[in-house]
Amino acid sequence: MTRYIFITGGVVSSLGKGLMAASLAALLQSRGYKVRIRKFDPYLNVDPGTMSPYQHGEVYVTDDGAETDLDLGHYERFTGVSARQSDNVTSGRIYQTIITRERRGDYLGATVQVIPHVTDAIKAFAQADTEGLDFVLCEIGGTVGDIESLPFIEAIRQMRNDLGRDRTIFVHVTLVPYIAAAGELKTKPTQHSVKELTALGVQPDILLCRCEHPLPDGERAKIAAFCNVRKEAVIPALDAKSIYAVPLQYHAEGLDYEVLRAFGITPGLAPDLRRWDEILDRQMNPEGEVTIGVVGKYVGLQDAYKSLNEALVHGGLANRVKVNIQWIDAELFEEAGGDVAARLEPLHAILVPGAFGSRGAEGKIAAIRFARERHVPFFGICFGMQMACVEGARNLCGISDASSTEFGPTDEPVVGIIEEWMSDEGLQKRQDGGDLGGTMRLGAYEAVLRGNSHVAGIYGASHISERHRHRYEVNTAYRERLEAGGLIFSGMSPDGELPEIVERPDHPWFVGVQFHPELKSKPFDPHPLFASFIEAAVKQSRLV
Ligand code: GLN
Repeated sequence: MTRYIFITGGVVSSLGKGLMAASLAALLQSRGYKVRIRKFDPYLNVDPGTMSPYQHGEVYVTDDGAETDLDLGHYERFTGVSARQSDNVTSGRIYQTIITRERRGDYLGATVQVIPHVTDAIKAFAQADTEGLDFVLCEIGGTVGDIESLPFIEAIRQMRNDLGRDRTIFVHVTLVPYIAAAGELKTKPTQHSVKELTALGVQPDILLCRCEHPLPDGERAKIAAFCNVRKEAVIPALDAKSIYAVPLQYHAEGLDYEVLRAFGITPGLAPDLRRWDEILDRQMNPEGEVTIGVVGKYVGLQDAYKSLNEALVHGGLANRVKVNIQWIDAELFEEAGGDVAARLEPLHAILVPGAFGSRGAEGKIAAIRFARERHVPFFGICFGMQMACVEGARNLCGISDASSTEFGPTDEPVVGIIEEWMSDEGLQKRQDGGDLGGTMRLGAYEAVLRGNSHVAGIYGASHISERHRHRYEVNTAYRERLEAGGLIFSGMSPDGELPEIVERPDHPWFVGVQFHPELKSKPFDPHPLFASFIEAAVKQSRLV
C-alpha cells in the first residue's frame, strides 16, 4: 500500500522544502521503506528547460531525458533513487495535455474545467508508477496563497478524501521569524499560513518550523494550539551547519517518528543513520583543503550550478578535504588588463562548466589555455569540453579560426550542431527553426572508453552511461588534428560518431566530458571523475 506525504510551504519562499522532502525521504529509507519524491511546479512553462538559470537555477536532467526542477537533484542525492520524467510536473504540462486532448475531442462535448479535469490530472500524476513504493512524497512548489498553486492544493485535499487519513498526510513548512528588536520568535505568520491552508480544506498534520533560534516550549505549544496540530508534531527546524546534517537534525527533532505516527504506523526500530553520520564526519573533520576555480557564466547565482557545487563537495568527501569554490566570471578575462595568470595562479584546479551562448567563451578559452600550459588540473564539462577542443585547435593545431557554430557561422567548426543521432528510441532528428524546448540531446547515453586511457582508469570500466544536455558536438572531422596536438578522444558514443570525452596524456589531469557527471554524484557515492579531480587538486596544492 502506497502512502502519500504532501509537502506545502507557507509564509515565504526559499524555506528549503526540497531539502526537507529529500531529508524526510532519506529518513524513511533508513527505516527500510521504499520511497519516491515528486515535485509539482505551479508555473506555466511545460518544463524548466527553456528558462534562464537566473530565473530558475539549474535544470536537472534525468536518465530518461526530462529537464526538471533542481529539487529533483536534491531528491536523488539524498535517496539515491534515480528521478524520472514522471517525478516532475508543471501546470504548463498539465494544461498542455488537457488542451491536446480537448482538441482531439476526447472530452466528448463536456465542458473542460479546473475541477475536475485539472485536479484529476494532478491526482493521476501523483499516483502514476507507484508500484512497490511505501511512500510517495509530493512537494508542491510555491507558497500557500499563490493563485497558481490552488488547483494543486485542491487536488491533495481531494486525495485525502479519496484515500483516507491512513494513506495521506500533510506536512506544512513555515517560518518562525526572530524579531531582534523584541528579542522574540514570532508565531503569527505560521498561524496565518495554516489558517490560509485550512480555508482551502487542508489541515496540516505536521508543521516544520524553520527558525534561526531554538523554538521555546511556550511558542511550540502556542503554534500547536492555534494551528490544531499536536505539540510533538510542531517540529523546530533550525538552520543546519551543512545540508547533509539536515536528515540527522530532523531525526533528532522527531520528524520521521511523527510522520509515521500521523499515518497510524507504530515506528519500529530506530533508523540506521550510519551513512549520514559518516558523511557528516568527513565533512566536519577535513584533513586539508583545496581551492577550485569555476570559470563560468552564471556565477552570480549559485543555484545555477547546484549539482556541480554538490559534486565538488562530494569529491572533497571522497578525499577528506574541504573544497573551497571560487566562482569566477569568465568575462573578467576578456576585459583589457584581465590578468588570467594573477587570478588563476592561486587555484589548485580549474573547472569550466556547462553553458549556452558566446558570452564569456573567450575568457573560458583563456582559462583553459592557462590550465593546459601550467599543468593545473582541468575539468571541462559540456561547454567546457567543447571550449577545450577549440582552445587546442587554435593554440596547438594552428587552426586559428577554430570556433563553435553556436557562436555564428565559421569556416572552422570544431564544434558544430548535430542534426541526427541515435538513441534507444531510434534515430532522432532536429529541424532548423524547430522548437527550442526539449529538443537537445537529453538524458542518459552510453560511451565507450579507450583502453589504457586516464578516464578508463578513473571509472574502472570500459562502458559508462552519463546524462547529456546539449545541442552541439565536437566535430570528428577535426579528430586527427586534435589528437596530433595531444588531445586524445578517449570516450566515444558506441557507434563511434560522437566524441564523449577528451583528455591530455601529457598533463597531470586534463579531462573534458560532453556529458554532465555532476548530475549523478551522491554524498555517499561521489562520482569517480569528481573524486579523481579533487585528488589531483590535492596533489597540486602541495606544489603551489
Ligand atoms: N551550449 C552547448 C551545447 O548546446 C553546451 C551545452 C551545455 O554545456 N550544457 O552543446
